[in-house]
Amino acid sequence: MDNIRKTIINFRDERNWKPYHNEKDLAISISLEANELLENFQWKTSDEAVRDSEQNIKEEMADILIYLVQLADKMDIDLEEEVLKKMKKNALKYPVQKG
Ligand SMILES: [Mg+2]
Repeated sequence: MDNIRKTIINFRDERNWKPYHNEKDLAISISLEANELLENFQWKTSDEAVRDSEQNIKEEMADILIYLVQLADKMDIDLEEEVLKKMKKNALKYPVQKG
């Protein structure tokens, strides 16, 4: 995760894009990239979409994460820590069914 974060932040900073990256526009960008991901599935079954568009699906998934990492950086949030905290919360909400 740290390698991904450093690569993304370095890419942004080399281009001096940080001043343009406010929380609102980064959140909008995450949503837009999620919709680009969805476009791959429109009017297709899951199997068809994965067969026809696997590379693009991968790239849109990466785009979502790239913007998410930049939003976390902007808000000074440790994304890995927040994911682990949320997974603990999810585990309490959805306990493993025994038997
Ligand atoms: Mg995209």
